[in-house]
Amino acid sequence: MRSIEHWIDGALKPSSGSVTSSVYNPATGQQQAQVVIGSSADVDAAVSCAARAFEEWGQSSLSRRTKVLFAFRELVNARAQELAELITDEHGKVLSDALGEVQRGLEVVEFACGIPQVLKGEFSDQVSADVDSYSYREPLGVVAGITPFNFPAMVPMWMFPIAIATGNTFILKPSERDPSASLMLARLWKEAGLPDGVFNVVQGDASTVNAILDHPGISAVSFVGSTSIARHIHARATAAGKRVQALGGAKNHAVVLPDADLEFAASHLTAAAFGSAGERCMAISVAVAVGAAANELVEQLDSQARAISVGSGRDAGVEMGPVVTAHAKQRIVDLIASAQDQGAQVRVDGREISVVGFEQGFFVGPTLIDGVASSMDVYQQEVFGPVLAVVRVDTLDEAIAFINANPYGNGTAVFTNSGAAARAFIRGVHVGMVGVNVPVPVPMAYHSFGGWKDSLIGEHHMHGPEGVHFYTRGKVVTARWPQDALGASFDMPTAR
Ligand code: NAD
Repeated sequence: MRSIEHWIDGALKPSSGSVTSSVYNPATGQQQAQVVIGSSADVDAAVSCAARAFEEWGQSSLSRRTKVLFAFRELVNARAQELAELITDEHGKVLSDALGEVQRGLEVVEFACGIPQVLKGEFSDQVSADVDSYSYREPLGVVAGITPFNFPAMVPMWMFPIAIATGNTFILKPSERDPSASLMLARLWKEAGLPDGVFNVVQGDASTVNAILDHPGISAVSFVGSTSIARHIHARATAAGKRVQALGGAKNHAVVLPDADLEFAASHLTAAAFGSAGERCMAISVAVAVGAAANELVEQLDSQARAISVGSGRDAGVEMGPVVTAHAKQRIVDLIASAQDQGAQVRVDGREISVVGFEQGFFVGPTLIDGVASSMDVYQQEVFGPVLAVVRVDTLDEAIAFINANPYGNGTAVFTNSGAAARAFIRGVHVGMVGVNVPVPVPMAYHSFGGWKDSLIGEHHMHGPEGVHFYTRGKVVTARWPQDALGASFDMPTAR
């Protein structure tokens, strides 16, 4: 069985322990590799080498850093197909979607290539007689990223290009479900000329994560995953004195108003709900149909959901692949059953799907459930599968209140032709990322990505300006070059 190892100090490293976790191909349902589970000794080895590397990288010039970043950008771009194939084989998403993920990650690398512009500080001339003052930002040191299974390349790439561009050294703990992309990215960094020890990968699970959270040599932790784990990460790592950003789960609603182009709304909602088998933190999992929009919308969603081609992510023409594990499949199937038991109508039922040639794969077909109420389990829980729930309300205000009552606040969208309605929605909704006739409003790399409420524990959003802020700390200098002897004063310094 192929073993997936750590990457420490610019090379593959076996684990110091003997625990492993199985890595499956979700389309075939077969185990294809095993990933080592890092011990606290492995975390310690990675931190020691990252701390050594920081001594040099933290002092490196902006032009040296950007040279490496540009080279890395070229390499990832050139090898995108190979990287996407690795993702499809371990995650299950279709190849074109995996390529899209790589592209969205590359956008953050491109943003980081411009880091000298972003890091420019502020200068005030002559704040007092012969005194100037300036502020700028310095790196933190060794920082860590803990990432989920659903974007094995893009989510780590929300973090490390900016962390490294700003002069930090980085330890990635990828998801144990699809760990191979992390090692390919590590090799590409080395090929790009990044010094050994600046980018490291420690494979592992919860025990490895806890060793990271407790390690005194790590200054900051970025996390993306489910909300309960985000809370744990935030509490434990801040208690250990670290800076933390922890992005959690989601329940994303799209409101469809009666004046919307319903055909447009239905096709975009179908893609947003079932793309990547619903395993996106920005997937639309609830359609909130307002008034007269409902019947026609549900008819269109029904026929479009049935038309989706489901199969292996490697096969041409397939639009939706399997979900990530047998356990994930069972959870989703159980939630569909609970919706039926609790009085909703399962209009399109993905539970019984079988894909010819892939009978053991972890497939759940597109599922459309009408008449969902907020009390039902399928609404209360994050399904994270290809399930679209339809909720019917009478007015836009009711739709906004319904969304705001949900504990999550990651993404949301409104479909309408009315600017006034869109504006009322944007201003009224308690959600971090809002789309207007755009169902998956993932910000570009030069804006920051983050939700509200239970979708983000901590202060900072990812990438863009907030990412730069997260990975740096400010320093303000007040400087004088005395030409004449000046008397010192015991009073609080004030401007002369
Ligand atoms: P997860 O929370 O199970 O795992 C995320 C990471 O935490 C993994 O690296 C995992 O090894 C580690 N982990 C798991 N259990 C742990 C524990 N008890 N203690 C410490 N670490 C632990 O999430 P997942 O299933 O990999 O990913 C899906 C979740 O991620 C969904 O909830 C989804 O909404 C969320 N997500 C959120 C965003 C966002 O931007 N808000 C983006 C992508 C995914």
